[in-house]
Amino acid sequence: MDKDLENLSKLAKDALQENKKYFQKLKKRTPKRLDLLMQELHDEEFERTDCLTCANCCKTTSPIFTEKDIERIAKHLKMKVVDFTKQYLQRDEDNFMVLQSAPCTFLDESDNTCFIYDVRPKACSEYPHTNRKKFIQLADLTIKNTEVCPATYRIVEELKKRLPQ
Ligand code: SF4
Ligand code: SF4
Repeated sequence: MDKDLENLSKLAKDALQENKKYFQKLKKRTPKRLDLLMQELHDEEFERTDCLTCANCCKTTSPIFTEKDIERIAKHLKMKVVDFTKQYLQRDEDNFMVLQSAPCTFLDESDNTCFIYDVRPKACSEYPHTNRKKFIQLADLTIKNTEVCPATYRIVEELKKRLPQ
């Protein structure tokens, strides 16, 4: 198991106020090199982190399924889009298509692999989005993700050290 996963809820809660203040300041004065630094921190973290020992994102949250995702995955499963949607998805309060249940139906809980890895939703392949361009726009989402993803928690902790405000 990931070394921080067991205590992640407490770790993230303890850091919440500090993280909110940190990102508020960073939003006001965003250095040009932020995206480059985030890419570095993301790469360093995921060199050390093995997601197969965690899978907490797949176990506790749902990705958003775009129309393209749905068409691709339904085709892969040899299902009609309408049947796939009816069987696995629902609309959330923001009108996005998400899974009906957690853990994700497509997670093999015996080894944390994904049954549809090659055709998985774009949101899954990009999660936790810590290396996205214009990262500052994802500051609020990243704070939320510290409660789900131990790698995101560690990336934010390292960011605060490397880019003090
Ligand atoms: S589709 Fe695959 S990668 Fe995405 S949440 Fe489900 S198990 Fe995880
Ligand atoms: S992305 Fe984060 S939450 Fe998901 S498996 Fe990797 S470390 Fe765990």
